[in-house]
Amino acid sequence: MEQTVNVSSTETGAAQISAQLCTVNAQIESAAQQAGREPADITLVAVSKTQPAGQIEPALKSGHVHFGENRVQEAEGKWPALKEAYPHCKLHLIGPLQSNKALKAVQLFDVIETVDRPSLAKKLGAIQAKQGALPKLLVQVNTGEEPQKAGIAPTDLDAFIAYCREDCGLDICGLMCIPPADEEPAFHFALLKKLAEKHELGWLSMGMSADYETAIAFGATSVRVGTAIFGARR
Ligand SMILES: *Cc1c(COP(=O)(O)O)cnc(C)c1O
Repeated sequence: MEQTVNVSSTETGAAQISAQLCTVNAQIESAAQQAGREPADITLVAVSKTQPAGQIEPALKSGHVHFGENRVQEAEGKWPALKEAYPHCKLHLIGPLQSNKALKAVQLFDVIETVDRPSLAKKLGAIQAKQGALPKLLVQVNTGEEPQKAGIAPTDLDAFIAYCREDCGLDICGLMCIPPADEEPAFHFALLKKLAEKHELGWLSMGMSADYETAIAFGATSVRVGTAIFGARR
């Protein structure tokens, strides 16, 4: 008798997601050791954008804490229920934030990694003045100076961080970058590390599925990995 299989071929199974999460954690550990660093100093942010809640739950059940989403609206649909069921988890916004969604983002996310322009800094400062604590904030740096990409150009970073701190009253915890797709990422990781040291910022979010081990060698304290954990996105 023929059996009907009711699982789409693009869906990665729960056991496979847990196994892939384990593999990525093991690779982070060995990359850290090779770089003479403590594995515990590197946070894995599991990027769950486009993945339905059912694909995210195996990672939550296995105790994984940090997750990344790139759209406020998509996160609003999935995460309130997941956060209630798994209160230990922390959510990172890793995509561009429109100022009119800033309040929603502040309510939903634990970390906003994409503070990328003065108008957004100003808006976040206003929200903080009104309601107190904000999520942890990172500044996105456009290390490749790509015109289509969000982020502060390296030459504008000094002025932008001063604006965030002095004019908006924001506490900036670190820097984030997305290197150009067609370039050797190491140069960009080294640049971000240098910029972070200059501003005495300890938190460096860099490295994705294809290059997180390189990013760790260059000092990443947080890596954002999607495909290597959840499989291809739909
Ligand atoms: C999607 C995304 C990632 C994860 O990319 P993978 O190649 O799937 O690991 C990391 N960072 C940002 C900003 C993203 O948008």
